[in-house]
Amino acid sequence: MTPTPAARPLPPADTIVAIATPPGRGGVGIVRLSGPRAHDVGTAIAGRTLEPRVATYATFRDDAGAPIDAGLALLFPAPHSYTGETVVELHAHGSPAALRALVERAVALGARHAEPGEFTRRAFLEGKLDLAQAESVADLIEASTATAARAAARSLTGEFSREVRAIVDGVVELRMFVEATLDFPDEDIEFVRADNAAGKLAGVQARLAALLVRAQTGARLREGLTVVLIGRPNVGKSSLLNRLVREDAAIVTPVAGTTRDTVERQIELAGIPLHVVDTAGLRETDDAVERIGIDRAWAAISRADLALLLVDARAADGTLHADDAALLARLPPSLPRIVVHNKTDLAQTPARDQRESDADGRVREHVWLSALTGDGVPHLEAAMRAHAGVESATEDTFLARRRHVAALQAARGRLDAAGLHIGAASPPLELFAEELRAAQDALASITGEFTADDLLGEIFSRFCIGK
Ligand code: GDP
Repeated sequence: MTPTPAARPLPPADTIVAIATPPGRGGVGIVRLSGPRAHDVGTAIAGRTLEPRVATYATFRDDAGAPIDAGLALLFPAPHSYTGETVVELHAHGSPAALRALVERAVALGARHAEPGEFTRRAFLEGKLDLAQAESVADLIEASTATAARAAARSLTGEFSREVRAIVDGVVELRMFVEATLDFPDEDIEFVRADNAAGKLAGVQARLAALLVRAQTGARLREGLTVVLIGRPNVGKSSLLNRLVREDAAIVTPVAGTTRDTVERQIELAGIPLHVVDTAGLRETDDAVERIGIDRAWAAISRADLALLLVDARAADGTLHADDAALLARLPPSLPRIVVHNKTDLAQTPARDQRESDADGRVREHVWLSALTGDGVPHLEAAMRAHAGVESATEDTFLARRRHVAALQAARGRLDAAGLHIGAASPPLELFAEELRAAQDALASITGEFTADDLLGEIFSRFCIGK
Protein backbone atom coordinates (compact mmCIF):
# COMPACT_ATOMS: atom_id res chain seq x y z
CA MET A 1 0.00 0.00 0.00
CA THR A 2 1.33 3.44 -0.88
CA PRO A 3 0.11 6.76 0.49
CA THR A 4 -2.74 8.32 -1.44
CA PRO A 5 -1.23 10.39 -4.26
CA ALA A 6 -1.75 14.12 -4.08
CA ALA A 7 -5.33 14.74 -5.13
CA ARG A 8 -4.78 18.26 -6.36
CA PRO A 9 -7.32 19.88 -8.67
CA LEU A 10 -6.08 20.36 -12.24
CA PRO A 11 -4.22 23.62 -12.83
CA PRO A 12 -6.22 26.21 -14.78
CA ALA A 13 -5.38 26.78 -18.44
CA ASP A 14 -5.63 30.55 -18.66
CA THR A 15 -2.90 33.17 -18.32
CA ILE A 16 -2.80 35.59 -15.42
CA VAL A 17 -1.07 38.93 -14.98
CA ALA A 18 -0.42 41.25 -12.04
CA ILE A 19 2.00 43.80 -10.67
CA ALA A 20 4.34 41.81 -8.42
CA THR A 21 6.09 44.68 -6.64
CA PRO A 22 4.51 46.69 -3.79
CA PRO A 23 2.22 49.59 -4.62
CA GLY A 24 3.86 53.00 -4.87
CA ARG A 25 6.79 54.50 -6.72
CA GLY A 26 10.21 52.88 -6.84
CA GLY A 27 13.29 52.25 -8.91
CA VAL A 28 11.98 49.02 -10.35
CA GLY A 29 8.50 47.64 -10.79
CA ILE A 30 7.72 44.12 -11.98
CA VAL A 31 4.74 42.83 -13.92
CA ARG A 32 4.45 39.07 -13.86
CA LEU A 33 2.59 36.79 -16.27
CA SER A 34 1.93 33.09 -15.79
CA GLY A 35 0.18 30.57 -17.99
CA PRO A 36 0.24 29.08 -21.49
CA ARG A 37 0.01 32.45 -23.27
CA ALA A 38 2.61 34.21 -21.11
CA HIS A 39 5.36 33.72 -23.71
CA ASP A 40 3.27 35.15 -26.60
CA VAL A 41 1.97 38.07 -24.57
CA GLY A 42 5.45 38.90 -23.25
CA THR A 43 6.97 38.74 -26.72
CA ALA A 44 4.23 40.98 -28.13
CA ILE A 45 4.80 43.64 -25.46
CA ALA A 46 8.60 43.50 -25.66
CA GLY A 47 8.65 43.24 -29.45
CA ARG A 48 11.66 40.94 -29.27
CA THR A 49 12.38 37.22 -29.11
CA LEU A 50 12.86 36.08 -25.52
CA GLU A 51 15.45 33.46 -24.61
CA PRO A 52 14.85 31.28 -21.53
CA ARG A 53 16.25 32.86 -18.37
CA VAL A 54 18.09 35.62 -20.23
CA ALA A 55 17.43 39.26 -19.42
CA THR A 56 16.42 40.91 -22.69
CA TYR A 57 16.42 44.70 -22.86
CA ALA A 58 13.34 45.93 -24.68
CA THR A 59 10.95 48.80 -25.15
CA PHE A 60 7.52 47.81 -23.90
CA ARG A 61 4.89 49.14 -26.27
CA ASP A 62 1.11 49.61 -26.27
CA ASP A 63 -1.18 48.33 -29.04
CA ALA A 64 -0.53 51.44 -31.16
CA GLY A 65 3.22 50.86 -30.93
CA ALA A 66 3.80 53.79 -28.56
CA PRO A 67 6.32 53.14 -25.79
CA ILE A 68 4.97 52.50 -22.28
CA ASP A 69 8.39 52.03 -20.67
CA ALA A 70 11.73 50.34 -21.35
CA GLY A 71 13.20 47.57 -19.23
CA LEU A 72 14.10 43.91 -19.04
CA ALA A 73 11.96 40.95 -20.06
CA LEU A 74 12.64 37.51 -18.56
CA LEU A 75 11.20 34.23 -19.76
CA PHE A 76 10.96 31.14 -17.54
CA PRO A 77 9.54 28.31 -19.66
CA ALA A 78 7.42 25.69 -17.85
CA PRO A 79 8.10 23.84 -15.64
CA HIS A 80 11.15 25.74 -14.40
CA SER A 81 9.41 28.73 -12.89
CA TYR A 82 7.84 29.83 -9.62
CA THR A 83 4.39 28.65 -10.65
CA GLY A 84 5.53 25.69 -12.71
CA GLU A 85 3.81 27.30 -15.71
CA THR A 86 5.54 29.48 -18.28
CA VAL A 87 6.26 32.78 -16.57
CA VAL A 88 7.34 36.11 -18.07
CA GLU A 89 8.51 38.97 -15.90
CA LEU A 90 8.66 42.50 -17.24
CA HIS A 91 11.06 44.56 -15.13
CA ALA A 92 10.05 48.15 -15.77
CA HIS A 93 10.46 51.33 -13.73
CA GLY A 94 8.46 51.56 -10.54
CA SER A 95 5.83 53.89 -11.93
CA PRO A 96 2.34 52.85 -10.88
CA ALA A 97 0.86 54.38 -14.04
CA ALA A 98 3.30 52.63 -16.40
CA LEU A 99 2.89 49.31 -14.57
CA ARG A 100 -0.90 49.56 -14.81
CA ALA A 101 -0.58 50.31 -18.53
CA LEU A 102 1.57 47.17 -18.95
CA VAL A 103 -1.01 45.06 -17.15
CA GLU A 104 -3.83 46.48 -19.32
CA ARG A 105 -1.80 45.76 -22.44
CA ALA A 106 -1.34 42.15 -21.29
CA VAL A 107 -5.07 41.87 -20.63
CA ALA A 108 -5.80 43.22 -24.13
CA LEU A 109 -3.53 40.47 -25.46
CA GLY A 110 -5.52 37.75 -23.69
CA ALA A 111 -4.27 37.54 -20.10
CA ARG A 112 -6.58 38.20 -17.17
CA HIS A 113 -6.04 39.97 -13.86
CA ALA A 114 -4.74 37.58 -11.20
CA GLU A 115 -6.67 37.08 -8.03
CA PRO A 116 -4.99 37.44 -4.61
CA GLY A 117 -2.49 34.63 -4.06
CA GLU A 118 -3.13 33.13 -7.48
CA PHE A 119 0.54 32.77 -8.50
CA THR A 120 1.30 30.85 -5.33
CA ARG A 121 -1.92 28.88 -5.68
CA ARG A 122 -0.77 27.78 -9.13
CA ALA A 123 2.63 26.87 -7.73
CA PHE A 124 0.79 24.62 -5.29
CA LEU A 125 -1.47 23.12 -7.98
CA GLU A 126 1.55 22.42 -10.19
CA GLY A 127 3.25 20.67 -7.27
CA LYS A 128 6.01 23.27 -6.91
CA LEU A 129 5.16 23.88 -3.27
CA ASP A 130 3.05 22.00 -0.79
CA LEU A 131 0.37 23.80 1.15
CA ALA A 132 2.46 24.49 4.26
CA GLN A 133 5.18 25.97 2.04
CA ALA A 134 2.64 28.09 0.15
CA GLU A 135 1.35 29.47 3.44
CA SER A 136 4.89 30.29 4.50
CA VAL A 137 5.27 32.51 1.42
CA ALA A 138 2.52 34.74 2.82
CA ASP A 139 4.01 34.49 6.31
CA LEU A 140 7.47 35.48 5.09
CA ILE A 141 6.03 38.48 3.27
CA GLU A 142 4.10 39.52 6.38
CA ALA A 143 6.81 38.74 8.95
CA SER A 144 7.49 41.77 11.13
CA THR A 145 10.58 40.54 12.97
CA ALA A 146 13.81 38.90 11.86
CA THR A 147 13.02 35.83 13.98
CA ALA A 148 9.63 35.41 12.32
CA ALA A 149 11.12 35.90 8.85
CA ARG A 150 13.77 33.25 9.49
CA ALA A 151 11.18 30.87 10.88
CA ALA A 152 8.96 31.40 7.81
CA ALA A 153 11.92 30.79 5.52
CA ARG A 154 12.53 27.51 7.30
CA SER A 155 8.96 26.40 6.54
CA LEU A 156 9.31 27.63 2.97
CA THR A 157 12.33 25.43 2.35
CA GLY A 158 10.19 22.50 3.42
CA GLU A 159 11.66 21.70 6.82
CA PHE A 160 8.24 21.54 8.47
CA SER A 161 6.73 19.56 5.59
CA ARG A 162 9.57 17.05 5.64
CA GLU A 163 9.04 16.38 9.32
CA VAL A 164 5.28 15.96 8.76
CA ARG A 165 5.97 13.53 5.92
CA ALA A 166 8.39 11.52 8.05
CA ILE A 167 5.61 11.05 10.59
CA VAL A 168 3.16 10.16 7.83
CA ASP A 169 5.65 7.55 6.61
CA GLY A 170 5.72 6.02 10.09
CA VAL A 171 1.92 5.87 10.14
CA VAL A 172 1.82 4.39 6.64
CA GLU A 173 4.29 1.69 7.65
CA LEU A 174 2.06 0.71 10.57
CA ARG A 175 -1.02 0.74 8.34
CA MET A 176 0.69 -1.43 5.78
CA PHE A 177 1.44 -4.18 8.19
CA VAL A 178 -1.85 -4.01 10.09
CA GLU A 179 -3.83 -4.17 6.86
CA ALA A 180 -1.73 -7.07 5.68
CA THR A 181 -2.55 -8.76 8.98
CA LEU A 182 -6.24 -8.12 8.43
CA ASP A 183 -5.95 -9.88 5.06
CA PHE A 184 -4.40 -12.95 6.70
CA PRO A 185 -6.43 -13.30 9.88
CA ASP A 186 -4.77 -16.55 11.00
CA GLU A 187 -1.52 -14.82 11.82
CA ASP A 188 -3.31 -12.06 13.59
CA ILE A 189 -2.13 -11.41 17.11
CA GLU A 190 1.23 -13.08 16.83
CA PHE A 191 2.02 -10.95 13.84
CA VAL A 192 1.22 -7.80 15.76
CA ARG A 193 3.45 -8.83 18.65
CA ALA A 194 6.29 -9.97 16.45
CA ASP A 195 6.33 -6.73 14.53
CA ASN A 196 6.23 -4.67 17.70
CA ALA A 197 3.38 -2.50 16.49
CA ALA A 198 3.02 -0.88 19.90
CA GLY A 199 6.69 0.07 19.99
CA LYS A 200 6.61 1.50 16.48
CA LEU A 201 3.49 3.46 17.31
CA ALA A 202 5.17 4.89 20.41
CA GLY A 203 8.06 6.04 18.23
CA VAL A 204 5.69 7.84 15.85
CA GLN A 205 3.85 9.38 18.79
CA ALA A 206 7.08 10.73 20.29
CA ARG A 207 8.08 12.29 17.00
CA LEU A 208 4.66 13.88 16.63
CA ALA A 209 4.77 15.24 20.19
CA ALA A 210 8.13 16.92 19.50
CA LEU A 211 6.83 18.44 16.27
CA LEU A 212 3.71 19.70 18.03
CA VAL A 213 5.82 21.62 20.56
CA ARG A 214 7.79 23.25 17.75
CA ALA A 215 4.63 24.07 15.84
CA GLN A 216 3.03 25.63 18.91
CA THR A 217 6.05 27.87 19.41
CA GLY A 218 5.94 28.76 15.74
CA ALA A 219 2.24 29.55 15.88
CA ARG A 220 2.79 31.87 18.83
CA LEU A 221 5.60 33.60 17.00
CA ARG A 222 3.26 34.20 14.11
CA GLU A 223 -0.03 34.82 15.81
CA GLY A 224 1.07 36.17 19.15
CA LEU A 225 0.16 35.45 22.68
CA THR A 226 -3.30 36.10 24.02
CA VAL A 227 -2.93 37.49 27.51
CA VAL A 228 -5.91 37.96 29.77
CA LEU A 229 -5.56 40.85 32.17
CA ILE A 230 -7.63 40.45 35.31
CA GLY A 231 -7.92 42.87 38.16
CA ARG A 232 -10.27 45.00 40.18
CA PRO A 233 -10.87 48.63 39.27
CA ASN A 234 -7.96 50.96 40.08
CA VAL A 235 -5.44 48.23 40.61
CA GLY A 236 -3.46 49.67 37.69
CA LYS A 237 -4.40 47.65 34.59
CA SER A 238 -4.44 50.61 32.21
CA SER A 239 -1.24 51.98 33.70
CA LEU A 240 0.48 48.63 33.21
CA LEU A 241 -0.70 48.35 29.61
CA ASN A 242 0.47 51.86 28.87
CA ARG A 243 3.79 51.10 30.49
CA LEU A 244 4.29 47.96 28.38
CA VAL A 245 3.34 49.86 25.27
CA ARG A 246 5.56 52.83 26.00
CA GLU A 247 8.64 50.78 26.75
CA ASP A 248 8.38 48.99 23.47
CA ALA A 249 7.15 51.90 21.40
CA ALA A 250 4.42 49.61 20.09
CA ILE A 251 1.30 50.63 18.30
CA VAL A 252 -1.94 50.26 20.19
CA THR A 253 -4.79 49.32 17.95
CA PRO A 254 -8.36 48.88 19.07
CA VAL A 255 -9.79 45.63 17.75
CA ALA A 256 -12.29 46.37 15.03
CA GLY A 257 -15.90 45.84 15.94
CA THR A 258 -15.63 46.33 19.69
CA THR A 259 -17.93 49.19 20.46
CA ARG A 260 -18.13 50.90 23.85
CA ASP A 261 -15.22 49.65 25.95
CA THR A 262 -12.31 48.33 24.07
CA VAL A 263 -11.84 44.99 25.72
CA GLU A 264 -9.12 43.64 23.48
CA ARG A 265 -6.01 45.47 22.40
CA GLN A 266 -3.00 44.44 20.45
CA ILE A 267 0.45 45.51 21.56
CA GLU A 268 3.87 44.29 20.59
CA LEU A 269 6.45 43.03 23.04
CA ALA A 270 9.93 42.40 21.67
CA GLY A 271 8.46 41.47 18.32
CA ILE A 272 5.70 39.18 19.60
CA PRO A 273 2.14 40.35 19.05
CA LEU A 274 0.30 40.35 22.37
CA HIS A 275 -3.48 40.37 22.33
CA VAL A 276 -4.40 41.77 25.68
CA VAL A 277 -7.93 41.11 26.82
CA ASP A 278 -8.92 43.47 29.59
CA THR A 279 -11.52 41.71 31.68
CA ALA A 280 -12.55 44.93 33.42
CA GLY A 281 -15.75 44.92 31.43
CA LEU A 282 -16.62 41.33 32.25
CA ARG A 283 -19.63 41.95 34.40
CA GLU A 284 -23.20 40.82 34.05
CA THR A 285 -25.20 43.15 31.88
CA ASP A 286 -28.54 43.48 30.13
CA ASP A 287 -27.11 45.78 27.49
CA ALA A 288 -27.07 43.92 24.18
CA VAL A 289 -24.12 45.84 22.73
CA GLU A 290 -22.04 45.40 25.85
CA ARG A 291 -22.99 41.73 25.85
CA ILE A 292 -21.38 41.28 22.42
CA GLY A 293 -18.11 42.72 23.74
CA ILE A 294 -18.23 40.45 26.76
CA ASP A 295 -18.90 37.35 24.69
CA ARG A 296 -16.00 38.30 22.51
CA ALA A 297 -13.76 38.66 25.56
CA TRP A 298 -14.76 35.21 26.84
CA ALA A 299 -14.09 33.73 23.43
CA ALA A 300 -10.61 35.26 23.58
CA ILE A 301 -10.11 33.88 27.08
CA SER A 302 -11.03 30.39 25.97
CA ARG A 303 -8.06 30.45 23.58
CA ALA A 304 -5.76 32.49 25.86
CA ASP A 305 -2.17 31.47 26.48
CA LEU A 306 -1.59 33.31 29.72
CA ALA A 307 -3.52 35.11 32.48
CA LEU A 308 -2.14 38.08 34.39
CA LEU A 309 -3.89 38.76 37.67
CA LEU A 310 -3.14 42.26 38.90
CA VAL A 311 -3.41 42.87 42.64
CA ASP A 312 -2.36 45.70 44.92
CA ALA A 313 1.07 45.03 46.43
CA ARG A 314 -0.22 46.51 49.66
CA ALA A 315 -2.82 43.77 50.07
CA ALA A 316 -1.81 40.81 52.17
CA ASP A 317 -0.22 38.14 49.98
CA GLY A 318 -2.30 35.16 49.21
CA THR A 319 -5.67 36.68 49.93
CA LEU A 320 -7.52 37.33 46.73
CA HIS A 321 -10.55 39.53 46.48
CA ALA A 322 -13.72 37.51 45.97
CA ASP A 323 -14.22 39.00 42.46
CA ASP A 324 -10.72 37.96 41.40
CA ALA A 325 -11.12 34.52 42.88
CA ALA A 326 -14.44 34.08 41.06
CA LEU A 327 -12.91 35.14 37.75
CA LEU A 328 -9.89 32.90 38.24
CA ALA A 329 -12.22 29.98 38.91
CA ARG A 330 -13.93 30.55 35.56
CA LEU A 331 -10.68 30.43 33.60
CA PRO A 332 -9.66 27.19 31.89
CA PRO A 333 -7.78 25.18 34.55
CA SER A 334 -4.80 24.59 32.27
CA LEU A 335 -4.28 28.32 31.62
CA PRO A 336 -0.94 29.48 33.10
CA ARG A 337 -1.18 32.53 35.37
CA ILE A 338 1.11 35.19 36.73
CA VAL A 339 0.07 37.18 39.81
CA VAL A 340 1.30 40.76 39.38
CA HIS A 341 1.60 42.75 42.60
CA ASN A 342 1.42 46.35 41.44
CA LYS A 343 2.26 49.64 43.17
CA THR A 344 5.44 48.45 44.90
CA ASP A 345 6.34 52.13 45.24
CA LEU A 346 3.43 52.62 47.62
CA ALA A 347 3.86 49.28 49.35
CA GLN A 348 7.57 50.04 49.78
CA THR A 349 8.47 46.53 48.80
CA PRO A 350 11.23 45.72 46.31
CA ALA A 351 10.43 44.76 42.73
CA ARG A 352 11.16 41.09 42.15
CA ASP A 353 9.79 37.83 40.82
CA GLN A 354 9.20 34.50 42.43
CA ARG A 355 7.94 31.10 41.36
CA GLU A 356 6.17 28.73 43.68
CA SER A 357 4.39 25.42 43.28
CA ASP A 358 0.80 24.94 44.35
CA ALA A 359 -0.27 21.95 46.36
CA ASP A 360 -1.19 20.27 43.06
CA GLY A 361 2.32 20.86 41.75
CA ARG A 362 1.31 23.67 39.36
CA VAL A 363 3.82 26.47 39.16
CA ARG A 364 2.49 29.90 39.92
CA GLU A 365 4.57 32.95 39.20
CA HIS A 366 4.53 36.20 41.10
CA VAL A 367 5.98 39.48 39.95
CA TRP A 368 6.21 42.64 42.06
CA LEU A 369 6.42 45.88 40.11
CA SER A 370 5.33 49.45 39.82
CA ALA A 371 3.46 50.40 36.70
CA LEU A 372 3.96 54.02 37.72
CA THR A 373 7.76 54.02 37.98
CA GLY A 374 8.43 51.08 35.66
CA ASP A 375 10.42 49.35 38.38
CA GLY A 376 10.16 45.57 37.97
CA VAL A 377 8.42 45.72 34.58
CA PRO A 378 11.35 43.89 32.90
CA HIS A 379 10.63 40.91 35.19
CA LEU A 380 7.12 40.73 33.80
CA GLU A 381 8.29 41.13 30.23
CA ALA A 382 10.78 38.32 30.65
CA ALA A 383 8.09 36.08 32.12
CA MET A 384 5.75 36.83 29.19
CA ARG A 385 8.50 36.21 26.66
CA ALA A 386 9.18 32.87 28.31
CA HIS A 387 5.50 31.97 27.95
CA ALA A 388 5.54 33.02 24.31
CA GLY A 389 8.38 30.57 23.83
CA VAL A 390 10.44 33.11 21.93
CA GLU A 391 13.47 32.48 24.11
CA SER A 392 13.51 28.99 22.66
CA ALA A 393 12.45 30.21 19.22
CA THR A 394 15.85 30.06 17.69
CA GLU A 395 17.48 27.70 15.31
CA ASP A 396 14.82 25.09 14.73
CA THR A 397 11.60 27.05 14.98
CA PHE A 398 9.47 27.29 11.88
CA LEU A 399 6.44 29.47 11.49
CA ALA A 400 3.25 27.48 11.93
CA ARG A 401 -0.41 28.38 11.86
CA ARG A 402 -3.19 27.46 14.21
CA ARG A 403 -4.47 25.26 11.39
CA HIS A 404 -1.26 23.22 11.57
CA VAL A 405 -1.35 22.98 15.35
CA ALA A 406 -4.98 21.83 15.22
CA ALA A 407 -4.16 19.17 12.61
CA LEU A 408 -1.22 17.89 14.66
CA GLN A 409 -3.43 17.77 17.75
CA ALA A 410 -6.10 15.86 15.84
CA ALA A 411 -3.48 13.38 14.64
CA ARG A 412 -2.18 13.02 18.18
CA GLY A 413 -5.70 12.22 19.44
CA ARG A 414 -6.07 9.52 16.76
CA LEU A 415 -2.69 7.97 17.55
CA ASP A 416 -3.52 7.97 21.27
CA ALA A 417 -6.74 6.10 20.46
CA ALA A 418 -4.77 3.70 18.25
CA GLY A 419 -2.41 3.12 21.18
CA LEU A 420 -5.29 2.12 23.42
CA HIS A 421 -6.51 -0.40 20.82
CA ILE A 422 -3.12 -1.96 20.23
CA GLY A 423 -2.47 -2.16 23.96
CA ALA A 424 -5.59 -4.25 24.54
CA ALA A 425 -5.32 -7.95 25.40
CA SER A 426 -6.79 -8.90 22.02
CA PRO A 427 -6.28 -5.80 19.90
CA PRO A 428 -9.25 -4.83 17.67
CA LEU A 429 -7.17 -4.45 14.52
CA GLU A 430 -9.93 -2.86 12.40
CA LEU A 431 -10.31 -0.05 14.91
CA PHE A 432 -6.53 0.32 15.15
CA ALA A 433 -6.33 0.61 11.35
CA GLU A 434 -9.17 3.11 11.28
CA GLU A 435 -7.47 5.43 13.79
CA LEU A 436 -4.23 5.26 11.82
CA ARG A 437 -6.06 6.20 8.65
CA ALA A 438 -7.68 9.20 10.36
CA ALA A 439 -4.32 10.28 11.80
CA GLN A 440 -2.79 10.15 8.33
CA ASP A 441 -5.60 12.26 6.87
CA ALA A 442 -5.14 14.89 9.58
CA LEU A 443 -1.40 15.07 8.87
CA ALA A 444 -1.91 15.15 5.12
CA SER A 445 -4.16 18.21 5.45
CA ILE A 446 -1.08 20.18 6.57
CA THR A 447 0.81 19.66 3.34
CA GLY A 448 -2.35 19.77 1.25
CA GLU A 449 -2.29 16.18 0.06
CA PHE A 450 -5.73 15.78 1.51
CA THR A 451 -7.39 19.15 1.56
CA ALA A 452 -10.82 20.39 0.65
CA ASP A 453 -11.10 22.96 -2.14
CA ASP A 454 -12.83 25.48 0.10
CA LEU A 455 -9.86 25.45 2.46
CA LEU A 456 -7.56 26.23 -0.47
CA GLY A 457 -9.78 29.16 -1.42
CA GLU A 458 -9.68 30.41 2.15
CA ILE A 459 -5.90 30.16 2.42
CA PHE A 460 -5.00 31.77 -0.89
CA SER A 461 -7.58 34.56 -0.70
CA ARG A 462 -5.55 36.02 2.18
CA PHE A 463 -2.56 36.68 -0.02
CA CYS A 464 -2.24 40.00 -1.76
CA ILE A 465 -2.50 40.31 -5.52
CA GLY A 466 0.67 39.53 -7.46
CA LYS A 467 1.90 36.85 -5.02
P1 GDP B 1 -7.29 50.21 36.35
O1 GDP B 1 -8.63 50.68 36.75
O2 GDP B 1 -6.97 48.87 36.89
O3 GDP B 1 -7.05 50.29 34.86
O4 GDP B 1 -6.23 51.19 37.07
P2 GDP B 1 -5.48 52.47 36.50
O5 GDP B 1 -4.35 52.05 35.64
O6 GDP B 1 -6.44 53.42 35.94
O7 GDP B 1 -4.82 53.04 37.84
C1 GDP B 1 -5.62 53.47 38.94
C2 GDP B 1 -4.83 54.50 39.72
O8 GDP B 1 -3.68 53.89 40.32
C3 GDP B 1 -4.32 55.63 38.89
O9 GDP B 1 -4.42 56.84 39.63
C4 GDP B 1 -2.85 55.29 38.66
O10 GDP B 1 -2.06 56.42 38.47
C5 GDP B 1 -2.51 54.60 39.95
N1 GDP B 1 -1.44 53.63 39.76
C6 GDP B 1 -1.37 52.62 38.86
N2 GDP B 1 -0.23 51.92 39.03
C7 GDP B 1 0.46 52.52 40.03
C8 GDP B 1 1.70 52.27 40.68
O11 GDP B 1 2.47 51.35 40.36
N3 GDP B 1 2.05 53.09 41.71
C9 GDP B 1 1.25 54.12 42.09
N4 GDP B 1 1.69 54.89 43.10
N5 GDP B 1 0.09 54.37 41.51
C10 GDP B 1 -0.32 53.59 40.51
